Amino acid sequence: MFYDQAFITVTGGKGGDGVVSFRRESMVPRGGPDGGNGGRGGNVIFIVNRHLNSLLTFQYKHDFEADNGRYGRGKDQTGRTGKDLYVEVPPGTIVRDADTGVALGDLLRPDQQLIVARGGRGGRGNARFATASNQAPMMAENGSPGEMFNLALELKLIADIGIVGLPNAGKSTLLSVVTAAKPKIGDYPFTTLQPNLGVAEVDATRTVVLADIPGLIEGASQGAGLGHEFLRHIERTRVLIHIVNGTSEDPVKDYETIQAELAAFGHGLAAKPQVVGMSKMDLPDAQAAFDLYCTGEQARPEFHDCIAFSAASNKNVRALLVKAVQILDQLPPIEYFEAEPVIEDIPQEGFEIVREGGGFRVTSTILIQRVETTRWDLEQAVQRFQHLLERTGVAKALEQRGIKQGDTVYLGDFELEWGEQDPL
Ligand code: GDP
Ligand code: MG
Repeated sequence: MFYDQAFITVTGGKGGDGVVSFRRESMVPRGGPDGGNGGRGGNVIFIVNRHLNSLLTFQYKHDFEADNGRYGRGKDQTGRTGKDLYVEVPPGTIVRDADTGVALGDLLRPDQQLIVARGGRGGRGNARFATASNQAPMMAENGSPGEMFNLALELKLIADIGIVGLPNAGKSTLLSVVTAAKPKIGDYPFTTLQPNLGVAEVDATRTVVLADIPGLIEGASQGAGLGHEFLRHIERTRVLIHIVNGTSEDPVKDYETIQAELAAFGHGLAAKPQVVGMSKMDLPDAQAAFDLYCTGEQARPEFHDCIAFSAASNKNVRALLVKAVQILDQLPPIEYFEAEPVIEDIPQEGFEIVREGGGFRVTSTILIQRVETTRWDLEQAVQRFQHLLERTGVAKALEQRGIKQGDTVYLGDFELEWGEQDPL
């Protein structure tokens, strides 16, 4: 199984409630209000752990909730802030809002962080409500719920150099020779389903990351043999080492097959700078193929700069790497996309509830807007809508107006039936 996508739900902690409390002092019959604010709920924060290389953990755990804030106390004591929840993700993780598809950020650099759900605000204690005319306020606020988002995570491999070529070309062997990676090597087309990453030392101060991208076969761009999964990984690489099997019956056709798949997939893969290498030069057949296709009068133009190498006898392996690195160094620096953290600002606009028929009509711009865009066939989207009902205070207001199960709620052109609400 190859996991590079995951769907999860993140929820910030609820803010703690504010309290009503009055100072007690000897000699003072009734002290002033001293009820503290509730603490803020914890945030859910993604953090890049560069030792991770898959989204596997998210296949087992889907819900991530930060700690709630604690309630305030007397003597103006603010409640304790809810602990932030740090969730580790591999470098190359792209975060989207699963409901809207909006990209929220790319997590690329080691230790990079992204707040994906903010904790709710703590409620204000009664000390904050004292005014000249009301010096003993009997009121405090509840904390607000934390944000909740359904997120789609996608892992895009980040490697400076991608190694492509048909199965058996010698990609994994090359990677194992230039880096300390230990990919599986064998004659099976899909020995490696997951791209193997390795770090190669170019010189004492310079390293590059190489990815051996398996599974490119004819039809990969149409999805054959998990082709899409593999092609997607090439997107983030900057330079390709294209390996042609020196012992192939038809190296030209092999080369063209890969080029055609890269071009058909699009996303600029075919335009990535390439270094072409012909492998297995320790074998006479390979040497003969090189002489025929890469040198002399009948040399093919696409093999003009082809490097003959052998991973087995370590011939020209370094030359191949150095050439790829030279091209890499001439490319402009990558511009990473770092979106602002997710903050859904729910406008603090009011709403109106009036009786209509046997039910209630709610007038609220944000709810009407959302009711239209909610996918009612998706449980998580429905939950999110319920969450919004809570956050805007509409749910509470409807309950105060005596709404019962089965009653109709009119929102714009929509009619919703009030039902038992799942605990959120
Ligand atoms: P991949 O499918 O492109 O990853 O290819 P592999 O690295 O798994 O190699 C396929 C086969 O070719 C394996 O049996 C390797 O041992 C063999 N091979 C790879 N490189 C060389 C080489 O330089 N010389 C020789 N003689 N065999 C090689
Ligand atoms: Mg391989």
